[in-house]
Amino acid sequence: MRRKMVAGNWKMNGTRTSVAELIGSLRVEELPSDVDVVVLPSSIHLAQVLSDLQGGTIAVGAQDCSTEPGFGAFTGEESATQLRDLGCAWVLVGHSERRSLFAESDQVVCRKFSSAQVNGLKPILCVGETLEERQLGKTLDAVSQQLNSVLDVVGVDAFESAVVAYEPVWAIGSGLTATPGQAQEVHAAIRAVVAQRNPRIAGGLRILYGGSVKSENAVELFAQADVDGGLIGGASLKANEFGAICRAA
Ligand code: PGA
Repeated sequence: MRRKMVAGNWKMNGTRTSVAELIGSLRVEELPSDVDVVVLPSSIHLAQVLSDLQGGTIAVGAQDCSTEPGFGAFTGEESATQLRDLGCAWVLVGHSERRSLFAESDQVVCRKFSSAQVNGLKPILCVGETLEERQLGKTLDAVSQQLNSVLDVVGVDAFESAVVAYEPVWAIGSGLTATPGQAQEVHAAIRAVVAQRNPRIAGGLRILYGGSVKSENAVELFAQADVDGGLIGGASLKANEFGAICRAA
């Protein structure tokens, strides 16, 4: 049995005050004990959030990390080594906003995944097709290519502790959600790609769905056989909504 997971991607949102309020509200939400709950604040709020959540059950991660592990002359970057040292457990790699707005290639995503993994930071690898790719019937090709480009370099064993998030680009922040059937089809295909290399690792791999998840659609999405939880953007900024999504998992 795969343990369900719900991660809140706060993106570039919040001030120290609003983050403190959000954490305060999250701490009084009833969160299920059989679900891994993770929050991913802006890097400037990581220390604050880690300290405020200390001793609790909510884990903390970063939204990105440098391709470069360790330390060095990389102005403005934060390495997986530093994020791990701070206390982060997780890091998103290859979010579609990084891929499209910051021109991150599959190669860059792969180096970030690798840097995270070797430093003990668990990567959440995001994959997903654009609207055009879906309309052309290329969804599974696009997603497999993103996944294989990482698998080819890091090897399937690196996926033992990693998580994959399927986020159709057209569903992110758009209010359009993949139907449970569409999500299940892609999640099953992702698991099959990994299973070709190692069926045991594929069977244990958690695959999250992301893209306009709300408390109203979460139950049905999370009920799909290969959907092991969600990566939540907008709805993770409201503690009661995020709590309801966690309870739906
Ligand atoms: P959304 O974002 O829930 O606001 O669509 C999801 C994400 O980008 O991870």
